[in-house]
Amino acid sequence: MTPQPLLIVGSMAFDDLDLPSGPARDVVGGSATYAALAATQFSAVRIVAVVGEDFPQTTLDDLERRGVDVSGIERAPGKTFRWAGRYADNLASRTTLDTQLNVFADFKPKLPPAFVDTPYLFLGNIHPALQLDVLSQVKGARFVAADTMNFWIEGERKLLGAVLEKLDLLVINDEELRQLAQLHNLRLAAKKVLAMGPKRLIVKRGEYGALLFDAEGTFFVPAFPLEEEIDPTGAGDTFAGALLGALAQSDPPDRRTFRRALHLASTVASFCVEAVGTRRLLSLDSDAIKQRQADLRSLVHPGD
Ligand code: AMP
Repeated sequence: MTPQPLLIVGSMAFDDLDLPSGPARDVVGGSATYAALAATQFSAVRIVAVVGEDFPQTTLDDLERRGVDVSGIERAPGKTFRWAGRYADNLASRTTLDTQLNVFADFKPKLPPAFVDTPYLFLGNIHPALQLDVLSQVKGARFVAADTMNFWIEGERKLLGAVLEKLDLLVINDEELRQLAQLHNLRLAAKKVLAMGPKRLIVKRGEYGALLFDAEGTFFVPAFPLEEEIDPTGAGDTFAGALLGALAQSDPPDRRTFRRALHLASTVASFCVEAVGTRRLLSLDSDAIKQRQADLRSLVHPGD
């Protein structure tokens, strides 16, 4: 096993959240932010993203202090991407209230020369045209994973199809899977999406855990049942970041490391929900991860 670096491309954002616990404004978020904070627990991380003039330098410093290479984060004139969402009282569903692309509107990802040969790549939820653009710039990435969302499945199916053909792994939630396959049954939908190109598929099911579908069969990992559920924003990106970080750490991934990475992803994602925004991820250490991983395991292990 030789740990490898991971390149993450995605959004960096300000989020305005209406949570059952009350409103939270100007919360630093974005798919790349959450994924990088999670992945850096396991591997060296590089980010390619864009922020505006208003994005706090302290967040970039926080990332850098955790070993993230932020030299691919472009600071463009204008405002940072902004997303607003409202959660239902049970936190199980949310409505997007507003999306302001701002500096994202003209973003052309440009990989610094030192990033071009990164062996692990996670294409966070951004326009599939941008995902393809990044894919055309990387030379010989050994493992490519991507996320997407309902917006692109609805409006950019053709471009998204071109992305899917190039993937080792697609990580989406159950709603997105059903929408992409146009089928309700999860197993049949997974089969149909695997036929579109990705070698493996992970389906995130929120509090119901996650499923891995590949040529070796189906594998399930539960979500850790929390007493304190505050803010699920970014939990999906945290899951994907931890998963990719763990895979990059145990290169080359095999059946066992894949399943272990899935456990770590579910473990780390649970912390994200415990506080608003990235707050809990910023204070997370490997002891807490180890303890919760053991707790998660004992949930489903019947013992002797
Ligand atoms: P998750 O809860 O894992 O789905 O991720 C939520 C994060 O995704 C928030 O921090 C948002 O800033 C970001 N986000 C929401 N919509 C978009 C979008 N259309 N493109 C990129 N990032 C987005």
